[in-house]
Amino acid sequence: MMRRVSEHVQTLIVGAGVTGLAYANFAPKGTWLVVDRDTSPGGYCKTVVQDGFVWDYSGHFFHFREPWVEAWLRERMPDDEILTVAKASGILVPTSEGLTRVDFPFQKNIHQLPRAEFIECLHDLYFADRSAPVRSFGDLLLGRFGRGIAQRFLVPYNEKLYACPMDSLDPDAMGRFFPHADVAAIIRHFRHPENGSYNASFTYPRGGAIRYVHALLRELPPERIALGEALVHVDPVARVATTTRRTVRYDRLVSSAPFDALLRLTGTPHDPALYSANAVQVYNLGFDRKGQTKDHWLYVPDPEISFYRVGFYDNIFGDDRMSLYIELGQARGAERKAELPRVLEDLRRLGIVTDQRLVSSHEILLDPAYVHITTAGRADFEAQRARLEAQDIITAGRYGGWTYCSIEDNILEAHRLATRHAS
Ligand SMILES: Cc1cc2nc3c(=O)[nH]c(=O)nc-3n(C[C@H](O)[C@H](O)[C@H](O)COP(=O)(O)OP(=O)(O)OC[C@H]3O[C@@H](n4cnc5c(N)ncnc54)[C@H](O)[C@@H]3O)c2cc1C
Repeated sequence: MMRRVSEHVQTLIVGAGVTGLAYANFAPKGTWLVVDRDTSPGGYCKTVVQDGFVWDYSGHFFHFREPWVEAWLRERMPDDEILTVAKASGILVPTSEGLTRVDFPFQKNIHQLPRAEFIECLHDLYFADRSAPVRSFGDLLLGRFGRGIAQRFLVPYNEKLYACPMDSLDPDAMGRFFPHADVAAIIRHFRHPENGSYNASFTYPRGGAIRYVHALLRELPPERIALGEALVHVDPVARVATTTRRTVRYDRLVSSAPFDALLRLTGTPHDPALYSANAVQVYNLGFDRKGQTKDHWLYVPDPEISFYRVGFYDNIFGDDRMSLYIELGQARGAERKAELPRVLEDLRRLGIVTDQRLVSSHEILLDPAYVHITTAGRADFEAQRARLEAQDIITAGRYGGWTYCSIEDNILEAHRLATRHAS
């Protein structure tokens, strides 16, 4: 049954995550309304506080490249303690000598491997076929770094993370987040370490990532943010959106919902196979005592271990109880990759948990988490986005843009869009 159109807003914003809230802050003058199906704001940038532990939905750390973005947020969180942390992250690699810890990024630190593996990686790096055609992310890894580096870390790690073969992804699947390095830079690094990856240091609020979301909420009128209200249908021609609570006419719709969901909501025909992504199962675990690890997070390429990454909030906060986030990549819709007992067993196998006692736990499924960037998917996305934009339906954000990005990118994009819409 068609519901009567109950109201009109100039801008209907779908999603109270970082993108939607940033857009609301910078929105052109006029009426706007944010709807989010979740009952609390923040999208993936949420924090859980439980039994004295502070956990994000998954480790969310911040590397601001545009000073104004960080300054803008900090002005709106005057009472927050924000830590600036020099990153310590490593990789646990299975080698001929057992488990070896190598600094991240792997390709620049192969000299930390046992001699046999170091020679193999260096040999293969030198003789990598850089003239071979690069059609996929797998080709890129092999051609740029050689078989040793690719097969000991880059391929198994990324296949665990993305839950798909590397040959199915675009060469540019990770964009600026992929730590590139040429042969000379790698070899120079053996004698003159310079781990200048895109996130050599990071900031993190004592109250968790949600504090940045509270900064985004600070000046927004709460009555314009409708939580627990899902968008269920859009009629792009009549410019009418139906939510679980109302029917609203809009002039412009700005959506940060996953793009494949927006295509369904607007009744846009599309091939779902072009919009594939992984899901990440996150376990947040609190223990009674600290462990031995000094890192902020560790990458785990070993296919025998269920998770691809484990992070240590206690090493960020300087707390005296081990507080972990564990990330497992899996196909969307698949059965969960591992239950908690298996995760704990793997933590013991890696020597991360010894005789500590688990005292608190929380879990969440992020679905989608990392989208699979493919050439055909990208072309379809651009065409569909332009079609929707012609009807004043704007898609934005990490999943609205079907891309790989950070919350700073989300804020910058929202700012760019709002500025464009104001003119
Ligand atoms: C494992 C992992 C680790 C990450 N780590 C970092 C990090 O360390 N640093 C960093 O900067 N970034 C990190 N990110 C990225 C960061 O989480 C995202 O860039 C950011 O949260 C995306 O915000 P968004 O608003 O675009 O999307 P979302 O957070 O997904 O928000 C979209 C909102 O839309 C709502 N919605 C969806 N469908 C509907 C509907 N039909 N009706 C109403 N509402 C709807 C959802 O409920 C959600 O609240 C990480 C991401 C992942 C998956």
